[in-house]
Amino acid sequence: MSGYRRFICPGCGYAYDEGKGDPHEGFPPGTRWEQVPEDWVCPDCAVREKLDFELQAEG
Ligand SMILES: [Zn+2]
Repeated sequence: MSGYRRFICPGCGYAYDEGKGDPHEGFPPGTRWEQVPEDWVCPDCAVREKLDFELQAEG
């Protein structure tokens, strides 16, 4: 099984890790990026939307 991915907010650097989720936002550990609502916004800067997030390169 492949690992979880991380998505980074280009505005503030907040990282969403699928393995950790974000319980504060209502996403339990293991919540896949595809399950995050399309209208979700970055919890840190509240400026960037999900579409703005960038997949962190592995390695
Ligand atoms: Zn942000």
